[in-house]
Amino acid sequence: MSDIMGIVKSRNPYEREFHQAVQEVVESIQPVLDRNPQYMHHKIVERMVEPDRVIMFRVAWQDDHGAVQVNRGFRIQMNNAIGPYKGGIRFHPSVNLSILKFLAFEQVYKNALTTLPMGGGKGGSDFDPKGKSDNEVMRFCQAFMCELFRHIGHNTDVPAGDIGVGAREVGYMFGMYKKLHNEFTGVLTGKSLNWGGSLIRLQAAGYGCVYFASEMLAAINQTIEGKVCLVSGAGNVAQHTVEKVIELKGKVVTMSDSNGYVYDDSGIDREKLEFVKELKNIERGRIKEYAERYPNAVYVPKDPEKDHNPLWDHKADCAFPCATQNEINARDAENLVRNGVQLVAEGANMPTTPEGVELFQNSHILYAPGKACNAGGVAVSGLEMTQNSMRLSWSREEVDVRLRMIMKSIHKACTDAAAQYGVPGNYVSGANIAGFVKVANAMMDQGVV
Ligand code: NDP
Repeated sequence: MSDIMGIVKSRNPYEREFHQAVQEVVESIQPVLDRNPQYMHHKIVERMVEPDRVIMFRVAWQDDHGAVQVNRGFRIQMNNAIGPYKGGIRFHPSVNLSILKFLAFEQVYKNALTTLPMGGGKGGSDFDPKGKSDNEVMRFCQAFMCELFRHIGHNTDVPAGDIGVGAREVGYMFGMYKKLHNEFTGVLTGKSLNWGGSLIRLQAAGYGCVYFASEMLAAINQTIEGKVCLVSGAGNVAQHTVEKVIELKGKVVTMSDSNGYVYDDSGIDREKLEFVKELKNIERGRIKEYAERYPNAVYVPKDPEKDHNPLWDHKADCAFPCATQNEINARDAENLVRNGVQLVAEGANMPTTPEGVELFQNSHILYAPGKACNAGGVAVSGLEMTQNSMRLSWSREEVDVRLRMIMKSIHKACTDAAAQYGVPGNYVSGANIAGFVKVANAMMDQGVV
Protein backbone atom coordinates (compact mmCIF):
# COMPACT_ATOMS: atom_id res chain seq x y z
CA MET A 1 0.00 0.00 0.00
CA SER A 2 2.74 2.48 0.92
CA ASP A 3 4.41 1.69 -2.44
CA ILE A 4 1.27 2.65 -4.31
CA MET A 5 0.70 5.80 -2.27
CA GLY A 6 4.35 6.69 -2.86
CA ILE A 7 3.86 6.41 -6.62
CA VAL A 8 0.60 8.37 -6.52
CA LYS A 9 2.10 11.16 -4.42
CA SER A 10 5.30 11.50 -6.41
CA ARG A 11 3.50 11.46 -9.77
CA ASN A 12 0.74 13.85 -8.65
CA PRO A 13 2.49 15.93 -5.98
CA TYR A 14 -0.08 18.66 -5.30
CA GLU A 15 -3.29 16.65 -5.71
CA ARG A 16 -4.41 16.37 -2.08
CA GLU A 17 -8.01 15.31 -2.76
CA PHE A 18 -6.85 12.70 -5.26
CA HIS A 19 -4.40 11.26 -2.69
CA GLN A 20 -7.23 11.16 -0.11
CA ALA A 21 -9.59 9.25 -2.42
CA VAL A 22 -6.89 6.77 -3.50
CA GLN A 23 -5.68 6.20 0.07
CA GLU A 24 -9.15 5.23 1.24
CA VAL A 25 -9.63 2.68 -1.54
CA VAL A 26 -6.12 1.25 -1.27
CA GLU A 27 -6.49 0.76 2.50
CA SER A 28 -9.84 -0.99 2.04
CA ILE A 29 -8.71 -3.41 -0.63
CA GLN A 30 -5.58 -4.66 1.14
CA PRO A 31 -7.33 -7.92 2.26
CA VAL A 32 -8.45 -8.51 -1.34
CA LEU A 33 -4.89 -8.10 -2.60
CA ASP A 34 -3.61 -10.44 0.12
CA ARG A 35 -6.02 -13.17 -0.96
CA ASN A 36 -5.69 -12.54 -4.71
CA PRO A 37 -2.03 -12.03 -5.69
CA GLN A 38 -2.99 -12.08 -9.38
CA TYR A 39 -4.17 -8.47 -9.02
CA MET A 40 -0.69 -7.47 -7.84
CA HIS A 41 0.94 -9.51 -10.57
CA HIS A 42 -1.10 -7.69 -13.22
CA LYS A 43 -0.46 -4.30 -11.54
CA ILE A 44 -4.19 -3.64 -11.42
CA VAL A 45 -3.99 -0.99 -8.69
CA GLU A 46 -1.07 0.82 -10.35
CA ARG A 47 -3.11 0.90 -13.58
CA MET A 48 -6.28 2.08 -11.82
CA VAL A 49 -4.63 5.11 -10.22
CA GLU A 50 -3.42 6.35 -13.61
CA PRO A 51 -6.29 7.89 -15.64
CA ASP A 52 -6.80 6.46 -19.13
CA ARG A 53 -6.70 10.05 -20.35
CA VAL A 54 -6.69 13.61 -18.97
CA ILE A 55 -7.98 16.32 -21.27
CA MET A 56 -7.34 19.96 -20.33
CA PHE A 57 -8.32 22.90 -22.46
CA ARG A 58 -8.83 26.65 -22.68
CA VAL A 59 -12.40 27.93 -22.67
CA ALA A 60 -12.56 31.49 -24.02
CA TRP A 61 -15.93 33.28 -24.06
CA GLN A 62 -17.38 36.79 -23.93
CA ASP A 63 -19.39 38.16 -21.02
CA ASP A 64 -22.39 40.50 -21.36
CA HIS A 65 -20.08 43.53 -21.54
CA GLY A 66 -18.16 42.07 -24.46
CA ALA A 67 -15.10 41.40 -22.28
CA VAL A 68 -13.18 38.22 -23.07
CA GLN A 69 -13.07 35.70 -20.22
CA VAL A 70 -10.76 32.71 -20.04
CA ASN A 71 -11.50 29.57 -18.02
CA ARG A 72 -9.97 26.15 -17.89
CA GLY A 73 -11.90 23.04 -18.94
CA PHE A 74 -11.18 19.40 -18.04
CA ARG A 75 -12.35 15.88 -18.72
CA ILE A 76 -10.81 12.97 -16.85
CA GLN A 77 -11.46 9.64 -18.58
CA MET A 78 -10.46 7.44 -15.69
CA ASN A 79 -11.37 3.84 -16.52
CA ASN A 80 -13.62 2.24 -19.15
CA ALA A 81 -13.14 -1.44 -18.27
CA ILE A 82 -16.86 -2.06 -17.72
CA GLY A 83 -18.46 0.50 -20.03
CA PRO A 84 -18.21 3.98 -21.58
CA TYR A 85 -16.81 6.68 -19.28
CA LYS A 86 -19.63 8.16 -17.24
CA GLY A 87 -19.61 10.95 -14.67
CA GLY A 88 -20.73 14.50 -14.13
CA ILE A 89 -19.43 17.92 -15.07
CA ARG A 90 -18.78 20.41 -12.27
CA PHE A 91 -18.68 24.19 -12.69
CA HIS A 92 -17.23 25.78 -9.55
CA PRO A 93 -14.29 28.14 -8.93
CA SER A 94 -12.59 25.47 -6.80
CA VAL A 95 -12.38 23.00 -9.71
CA ASN A 96 -8.85 21.78 -10.47
CA LEU A 97 -7.14 18.58 -11.55
CA SER A 98 -7.00 17.16 -8.02
CA ILE A 99 -10.73 17.60 -7.36
CA LEU A 100 -11.73 16.13 -10.71
CA LYS A 101 -9.32 13.19 -10.44
CA PHE A 102 -10.66 12.31 -6.99
CA LEU A 103 -14.21 12.49 -8.34
CA ALA A 104 -13.35 10.44 -11.43
CA PHE A 105 -11.54 7.83 -9.32
CA GLU A 106 -14.50 7.45 -6.94
CA GLN A 107 -16.85 7.32 -9.92
CA VAL A 108 -15.18 4.15 -11.23
CA TYR A 109 -16.14 2.14 -8.12
CA LYS A 110 -19.50 3.84 -7.70
CA ASN A 111 -20.51 3.01 -11.26
CA ALA A 112 -19.37 -0.58 -10.80
CA LEU A 113 -21.63 -0.85 -7.75
CA THR A 114 -24.73 0.22 -9.70
CA THR A 115 -24.68 -3.13 -11.60
CA LEU A 116 -24.90 -1.12 -14.87
CA PRO A 117 -22.20 -1.15 -17.59
CA MET A 118 -20.55 2.22 -16.98
CA GLY A 119 -16.90 3.20 -16.67
CA GLY A 120 -15.80 6.24 -14.66
CA GLY A 121 -15.03 9.81 -15.64
CA LYS A 122 -15.53 13.37 -14.47
CA GLY A 123 -15.10 16.82 -15.91
CA GLY A 124 -15.70 20.48 -15.36
CA SER A 125 -14.35 23.96 -15.22
CA ASP A 126 -13.35 26.67 -12.76
CA PHE A 127 -16.19 28.76 -14.25
CA ASP A 128 -18.60 30.06 -11.59
CA PRO A 129 -22.21 30.20 -12.81
CA LYS A 130 -23.23 32.16 -9.70
CA GLY A 131 -24.04 35.77 -10.59
CA LYS A 132 -23.85 35.14 -14.35
CA SER A 133 -26.75 35.90 -16.69
CA ASP A 134 -28.46 33.08 -18.62
CA ASN A 135 -26.80 34.36 -21.78
CA GLU A 136 -23.36 34.27 -20.18
CA VAL A 137 -23.98 30.73 -18.95
CA MET A 138 -25.10 29.75 -22.46
CA ARG A 139 -22.04 31.25 -24.13
CA PHE A 140 -19.75 29.58 -21.63
CA CYS A 141 -21.43 26.17 -22.06
CA GLN A 142 -21.19 26.48 -25.83
CA ALA A 143 -17.51 27.41 -25.69
CA PHE A 144 -16.84 24.52 -23.28
CA MET A 145 -18.59 22.03 -25.59
CA CYS A 146 -16.74 23.36 -28.65
CA GLU A 147 -13.69 21.53 -27.33
CA LEU A 148 -15.25 18.73 -25.28
CA PHE A 149 -17.39 17.43 -28.17
CA ARG A 150 -14.44 15.74 -29.88
CA HIS A 151 -13.70 13.60 -26.82
CA ILE A 152 -17.19 12.32 -25.92
CA GLY A 153 -19.97 10.28 -27.53
CA HIS A 154 -22.83 8.01 -26.51
CA ASN A 155 -20.57 4.93 -26.77
CA THR A 156 -17.41 6.67 -25.55
CA ASP A 157 -18.05 9.07 -22.70
CA VAL A 158 -21.39 10.34 -21.43
CA PRO A 159 -21.19 13.35 -19.07
CA ALA A 160 -23.98 14.56 -16.76
CA GLY A 161 -24.51 17.34 -14.17
CA ASP A 162 -22.82 17.93 -10.82
CA ILE A 163 -22.22 21.04 -8.69
CA GLY A 164 -23.13 24.11 -10.74
CA VAL A 165 -24.42 22.04 -13.66
CA GLY A 166 -28.15 21.42 -13.76
CA ALA A 167 -30.82 21.18 -16.47
CA ARG A 168 -30.00 24.64 -17.84
CA GLU A 169 -26.31 23.90 -18.38
CA VAL A 170 -26.94 20.36 -19.69
CA GLY A 171 -29.40 21.86 -22.21
CA TYR A 172 -26.92 24.42 -23.53
CA MET A 173 -24.12 21.84 -23.77
CA PHE A 174 -26.36 19.31 -25.51
CA GLY A 175 -27.51 21.97 -28.00
CA MET A 176 -23.93 22.73 -29.03
CA TYR A 177 -22.94 19.04 -29.21
CA LYS A 178 -25.94 18.32 -31.45
CA LYS A 179 -25.05 21.20 -33.74
CA LEU A 180 -21.38 20.21 -34.04
CA HIS A 181 -22.03 16.50 -34.58
CA ASN A 182 -25.29 16.82 -36.47
CA GLU A 183 -26.74 13.91 -34.54
CA PHE A 184 -29.26 13.44 -31.74
CA THR A 185 -27.92 10.84 -29.32
CA GLY A 186 -27.89 10.34 -25.57
CA VAL A 187 -24.44 11.90 -25.22
CA LEU A 188 -25.37 13.67 -21.97
CA THR A 189 -27.69 12.60 -19.19
CA GLY A 190 -29.79 14.79 -16.95
CA LYS A 191 -31.55 16.09 -20.07
CA SER A 192 -34.97 17.73 -19.85
CA LEU A 193 -37.92 15.38 -20.05
CA ASN A 194 -39.27 16.61 -23.38
CA TRP A 195 -36.07 15.89 -25.30
CA GLY A 196 -34.68 12.61 -24.03
CA GLY A 197 -34.40 12.94 -20.26
CA SER A 198 -35.54 10.29 -17.84
CA LEU A 199 -38.21 10.67 -15.20
CA ILE A 200 -36.66 10.57 -11.69
CA ARG A 201 -33.14 11.52 -12.94
CA LEU A 202 -33.48 14.92 -11.26
CA GLN A 203 -34.44 13.31 -7.96
CA ALA A 204 -32.27 10.19 -8.22
CA ALA A 205 -29.18 11.04 -6.16
CA GLY A 206 -31.20 12.40 -3.22
CA TYR A 207 -33.94 9.75 -3.34
CA GLY A 208 -31.33 7.02 -3.74
CA CYS A 209 -29.39 8.32 -0.74
CA VAL A 210 -32.48 8.05 1.46
CA TYR A 211 -33.31 4.60 0.03
CA PHE A 212 -29.79 3.53 0.97
CA ALA A 213 -30.17 5.02 4.47
CA SER A 214 -33.47 3.14 4.82
CA GLU A 215 -31.69 -0.11 3.96
CA MET A 216 -29.04 0.63 6.59
CA LEU A 217 -31.73 1.31 9.19
CA ALA A 218 -33.76 -1.75 8.14
CA ALA A 219 -30.72 -3.89 8.97
CA ILE A 220 -31.18 -2.81 12.60
CA ASN A 221 -35.02 -2.94 12.40
CA GLN A 222 -35.51 0.80 12.22
CA THR A 223 -36.97 3.30 9.72
CA ILE A 224 -36.62 6.99 8.90
CA GLU A 225 -40.05 7.72 10.39
CA GLY A 226 -39.80 10.15 13.30
CA LYS A 227 -36.03 10.64 12.89
CA VAL A 228 -34.60 14.16 13.12
CA CYS A 229 -32.25 14.75 10.19
CA LEU A 230 -29.50 17.27 9.44
CA VAL A 231 -29.01 17.98 5.74
CA SER A 232 -26.31 20.24 4.28
CA GLY A 233 -26.51 21.89 0.87
CA ALA A 234 -29.55 23.28 -0.90
CA GLY A 235 -28.87 22.06 -4.42
CA ASN A 236 -30.07 19.07 -6.38
CA VAL A 237 -28.96 16.32 -4.00
CA ALA A 238 -29.98 18.16 -0.82
CA GLN A 239 -33.43 19.12 -2.13
CA HIS A 240 -34.34 15.57 -3.11
CA THR A 241 -32.86 14.06 0.03
CA VAL A 242 -35.12 16.38 2.03
CA GLU A 243 -38.09 15.52 -0.20
CA LYS A 244 -37.71 11.77 0.36
CA VAL A 245 -37.09 12.14 4.12
CA ILE A 246 -40.34 14.15 4.38
CA GLU A 247 -42.19 11.48 2.37
CA LEU A 248 -40.90 8.80 4.75
CA LYS A 249 -42.06 10.89 7.72
CA GLY A 250 -38.69 12.01 9.00
CA LYS A 251 -38.06 15.59 10.10
CA VAL A 252 -35.35 17.70 8.42
CA VAL A 253 -34.16 20.70 10.44
CA THR A 254 -31.25 22.16 8.42
CA MET A 255 -30.22 23.14 4.88
CA SER A 256 -27.26 25.26 3.80
CA ASP A 257 -25.30 26.92 1.04
CA SER A 258 -21.73 28.18 0.86
CA ASN A 259 -22.62 31.32 2.87
CA GLY A 260 -24.33 29.68 5.85
CA TYR A 261 -27.14 27.44 7.05
CA VAL A 262 -30.70 27.59 8.36
CA TYR A 263 -31.96 25.70 11.40
CA ASP A 264 -35.73 25.21 11.52
CA ASP A 265 -36.79 23.50 14.71
CA SER A 266 -40.35 22.97 13.44
CA GLY A 267 -39.02 21.00 10.45
CA ILE A 268 -38.75 21.75 6.72
CA ASP A 269 -42.08 20.58 5.33
CA ARG A 270 -43.24 20.24 1.70
CA GLU A 271 -44.29 23.87 1.41
CA LYS A 272 -40.99 25.14 2.78
CA LEU A 273 -39.08 22.81 0.49
CA GLU A 274 -41.00 24.18 -2.51
CA PHE A 275 -39.86 27.64 -1.38
CA VAL A 276 -36.22 26.43 -1.33
CA LYS A 277 -36.56 24.88 -4.81
CA GLU A 278 -37.98 28.10 -6.26
CA LEU A 279 -35.32 30.15 -4.43
CA LYS A 280 -32.39 28.00 -5.58
CA ASN A 281 -33.46 26.69 -9.00
CA ILE A 282 -35.28 29.69 -10.40
CA GLU A 283 -34.42 32.85 -8.48
CA ARG A 284 -30.89 31.57 -7.78
CA GLY A 285 -31.02 33.20 -4.33
CA ARG A 286 -29.25 32.48 -1.03
CA ILE A 287 -30.43 30.17 1.77
CA LYS A 288 -30.55 33.05 4.27
CA GLU A 289 -33.77 34.16 2.51
CA TYR A 290 -35.41 31.06 4.01
CA ALA A 291 -35.11 32.61 7.48
CA GLU A 292 -36.54 35.88 6.14
CA ARG A 293 -39.56 33.97 4.76
CA TYR A 294 -39.94 31.71 7.84
CA PRO A 295 -38.91 33.85 10.83
CA ASN A 296 -39.04 30.90 13.26
CA ALA A 297 -35.96 29.54 11.52
CA VAL A 298 -32.50 30.76 12.47
CA TYR A 299 -29.88 31.69 9.87
CA VAL A 300 -26.26 31.12 10.87
CA PRO A 301 -23.72 32.72 8.50
CA LYS A 302 -20.55 30.78 7.74
CA ASP A 303 -17.66 31.79 9.99
CA PRO A 304 -14.32 30.97 8.38
CA GLU A 305 -12.60 31.51 11.75
CA LYS A 306 -14.40 28.53 13.31
CA ASP A 307 -12.70 25.13 13.33
CA HIS A 308 -16.06 23.39 12.85
CA ASN A 309 -19.42 23.84 11.16
CA PRO A 310 -22.18 24.46 13.74
CA LEU A 311 -24.70 22.83 11.36
CA TRP A 312 -23.32 19.48 12.54
CA ASP A 313 -23.64 20.46 16.20
CA HIS A 314 -27.43 20.08 16.58
CA LYS A 315 -29.13 17.17 18.25
CA ALA A 316 -30.30 14.71 15.57
CA ASP A 317 -30.66 11.06 14.64
CA CYS A 318 -29.38 11.12 11.06
CA ALA A 319 -27.01 13.30 9.02
CA PHE A 320 -26.99 13.67 5.24
CA PRO A 321 -24.03 15.79 4.04
CA CYS A 322 -25.14 16.83 0.53
CA ALA A 323 -22.99 19.87 -0.33
CA THR A 324 -19.33 19.20 -1.12
CA GLN A 325 -16.07 17.38 -0.31
CA ASN A 326 -14.49 17.55 3.16
CA GLU A 327 -17.40 19.44 4.73
CA ILE A 328 -17.28 17.25 7.89
CA ASN A 329 -13.97 17.37 9.75
CA ALA A 330 -12.93 15.46 12.88
CA ARG A 331 -14.47 18.06 15.19
CA ASP A 332 -17.77 17.96 13.24
CA ALA A 333 -17.78 14.17 13.36
CA GLU A 334 -17.15 14.30 17.10
CA ASN A 335 -20.06 16.74 17.54
CA LEU A 336 -22.39 14.54 15.50
CA VAL A 337 -21.55 11.45 17.53
CA ARG A 338 -21.80 13.33 20.84
CA ASN A 339 -25.23 14.65 19.86
CA GLY A 340 -26.53 11.13 19.32
CA VAL A 341 -26.44 10.75 15.53
CA GLN A 342 -26.97 7.09 14.65
CA LEU A 343 -26.56 7.26 10.90
CA VAL A 344 -24.49 9.27 8.43
CA ALA A 345 -25.34 8.74 4.75
CA GLU A 346 -23.25 10.79 2.32
CA GLY A 347 -25.19 12.45 -0.49
CA ALA A 348 -22.10 14.44 -1.52
CA ASN A 349 -18.85 12.90 -2.76
CA MET A 350 -16.21 12.44 -0.04
CA PRO A 351 -17.81 14.99 2.35
CA THR A 352 -15.97 13.56 5.38
CA THR A 353 -12.25 13.99 6.02
CA PRO A 354 -10.25 10.79 6.76
CA GLU A 355 -10.08 11.75 10.47
CA GLY A 356 -13.88 12.18 10.51
CA VAL A 357 -14.37 8.80 8.83
CA GLU A 358 -12.13 7.13 11.41
CA LEU A 359 -14.13 8.71 14.21
CA PHE A 360 -17.45 7.49 12.76
CA GLN A 361 -16.06 4.01 12.35
CA ASN A 362 -14.67 3.86 15.87
CA SER A 363 -18.01 5.09 17.23
CA HIS A 364 -19.84 2.17 15.56
CA ILE A 365 -22.60 4.35 14.17
CA LEU A 366 -24.07 3.45 10.77
CA TYR A 367 -21.81 5.28 8.31
CA ALA A 368 -21.82 4.86 4.53
CA PRO A 369 -19.67 6.67 1.93
CA GLY A 370 -20.89 8.74 -1.00
CA LYS A 371 -19.83 6.19 -3.59
CA ALA A 372 -22.50 3.85 -2.22
CA CYS A 373 -25.16 6.29 -0.95
CA ASN A 374 -25.28 8.71 -3.88
CA ALA A 375 -24.89 6.12 -6.66
CA GLY A 376 -28.60 6.51 -7.44
CA GLY A 377 -27.78 9.61 -9.49
CA VAL A 378 -25.51 7.84 -11.93
CA ALA A 379 -27.70 4.72 -11.82
CA VAL A 380 -30.66 6.63 -13.23
CA SER A 381 -28.28 8.28 -15.70
CA GLY A 382 -27.51 4.72 -16.81
CA LEU A 383 -31.24 4.08 -17.12
CA GLU A 384 -31.55 7.29 -19.16
CA MET A 385 -28.86 5.94 -21.55
CA THR A 386 -30.80 2.67 -21.87
CA GLN A 387 -34.05 4.50 -22.63
CA ASN A 388 -32.26 6.72 -25.21
CA SER A 389 -30.78 3.66 -26.94
CA MET A 390 -34.19 1.98 -27.03
CA ARG A 391 -35.82 5.28 -28.08
CA LEU A 392 -38.55 5.01 -25.49
CA SER A 393 -39.35 6.39 -22.05
CA TRP A 394 -40.22 4.49 -18.92
CA SER A 395 -42.86 5.67 -16.45
CA ARG A 396 -41.99 7.38 -13.18
CA GLU A 397 -42.96 4.23 -11.25
CA GLU A 398 -40.84 1.98 -13.46
CA VAL A 399 -37.71 4.14 -12.99
CA ASP A 400 -38.33 4.57 -9.27
CA VAL A 401 -38.74 0.81 -8.75
CA ARG A 402 -35.47 0.20 -10.62
CA LEU A 403 -33.72 2.88 -8.56
CA ARG A 404 -34.95 1.29 -5.35
CA MET A 405 -33.81 -2.16 -6.51
CA ILE A 406 -30.40 -0.81 -7.46
CA MET A 407 -29.91 0.90 -4.08
CA LYS A 408 -30.96 -2.30 -2.35
CA SER A 409 -28.50 -4.33 -4.39
CA ILE A 410 -25.68 -1.83 -3.71
CA HIS A 411 -26.44 -2.14 -0.01
CA LYS A 412 -26.28 -5.92 -0.28
CA ALA A 413 -23.05 -5.83 -2.31
CA CYS A 414 -21.43 -3.62 0.36
CA THR A 415 -22.55 -5.71 3.33
CA ASP A 416 -21.68 -9.01 1.60
CA ALA A 417 -18.19 -7.82 0.59
CA ALA A 418 -17.51 -6.41 4.07
CA ALA A 419 -18.56 -9.69 5.70
CA GLN A 420 -16.58 -11.79 3.21
CA TYR A 421 -13.38 -9.87 3.97
CA GLY A 422 -13.77 -9.91 7.74
CA VAL A 423 -15.04 -6.36 8.36
CA PRO A 424 -18.82 -6.82 8.79
CA GLY A 425 -20.81 -3.58 8.95
CA ASN A 426 -17.97 -1.53 7.41
CA TYR A 427 -19.67 0.15 4.44
CA VAL A 428 -16.48 1.94 3.37
CA SER A 429 -14.56 -1.30 2.93
CA GLY A 430 -17.62 -3.06 1.50
CA ALA A 431 -18.20 -0.43 -1.19
CA ASN A 432 -14.53 -0.20 -2.14
CA ILE A 433 -14.03 -3.96 -2.27
CA ALA A 434 -17.20 -4.73 -4.25
CA GLY A 435 -16.46 -1.96 -6.77
CA PHE A 436 -12.78 -2.84 -7.04
CA VAL A 437 -13.28 -6.57 -7.65
CA LYS A 438 -15.71 -5.98 -10.52
CA VAL A 439 -13.44 -3.50 -12.32
CA ALA A 440 -10.27 -5.47 -11.55
CA ASN A 441 -11.72 -8.67 -13.03
CA ALA A 442 -12.78 -6.83 -16.19
CA MET A 443 -9.26 -5.38 -16.54
CA MET A 444 -7.73 -8.84 -16.13
CA ASP A 445 -10.06 -10.25 -18.82
CA GLN A 446 -9.09 -7.48 -21.24
CA GLY A 447 -5.32 -7.88 -20.96
CA VAL A 448 -2.62 -5.28 -20.53
CA VAL A 449 -3.99 -2.18 -22.27
P1 NDP B 1 -25.64 21.74 -6.66
O1 NDP B 1 -24.78 22.69 -7.38
O2 NDP B 1 -27.03 21.55 -7.10
O3 NDP B 1 -25.66 22.11 -5.10
C1 NDP B 1 -24.50 22.16 -4.36
C2 NDP B 1 -24.82 22.70 -2.97
O4 NDP B 1 -23.67 22.61 -2.14
C3 NDP B 1 -25.22 24.16 -2.98
O5 NDP B 1 -26.10 24.42 -1.92
C4 NDP B 1 -23.87 24.86 -2.77
O6 NDP B 1 -23.96 26.16 -2.22
C5 NDP B 1 -23.21 23.93 -1.79
N1 NDP B 1 -21.76 24.01 -1.98
C6 NDP B 1 -21.06 23.76 -3.12
N2 NDP B 1 -19.76 23.95 -2.94
C7 NDP B 1 -19.63 24.35 -1.67
C8 NDP B 1 -18.52 24.70 -0.88
N3 NDP B 1 -17.25 24.69 -1.37
N4 NDP B 1 -18.75 25.02 0.42
C9 NDP B 1 -20.01 25.03 0.92
N5 NDP B 1 -21.11 24.70 0.21
C10 NDP B 1 -20.92 24.36 -1.06
O7 NDP B 1 -24.84 20.36 -6.68
P2 NDP B 1 -25.40 18.89 -6.40
O8 NDP B 1 -26.48 18.93 -5.40
O9 NDP B 1 -25.62 18.26 -7.70
O10 NDP B 1 -24.11 18.21 -5.78
C11 NDP B 1 -23.85 18.17 -4.37
C12 NDP B 1 -22.90 17.03 -4.05
O11 NDP B 1 -23.49 15.79 -4.49
C13 NDP B 1 -21.53 17.09 -4.75
O12 NDP B 1 -20.57 16.49 -3.92
C14 NDP B 1 -21.76 16.21 -5.98
O13 NDP B 1 -20.53 15.72 -6.49
C15 NDP B 1 -22.60 15.11 -5.37
N6 NDP B 1 -23.40 14.32 -6.32
C16 NDP B 1 -24.25 14.91 -7.21
C17 NDP B 1 -25.01 14.11 -8.04
C18 NDP B 1 -26.00 14.68 -9.01
O14 NDP B 1 -26.63 13.88 -9.72
N7 NDP B 1 -26.19 15.99 -9.09
C19 NDP B 1 -24.90 12.64 -8.03
C20 NDP B 1 -24.02 12.14 -7.00
C21 NDP B 1 -23.30 12.96 -6.21
P3 NDP B 1 -23.74 27.44 -3.18
O15 NDP B 1 -24.97 27.53 -4.01
O16 NDP B 1 -23.58 28.57 -2.24
O17 NDP B 1 -22.51 27.16 -3.97
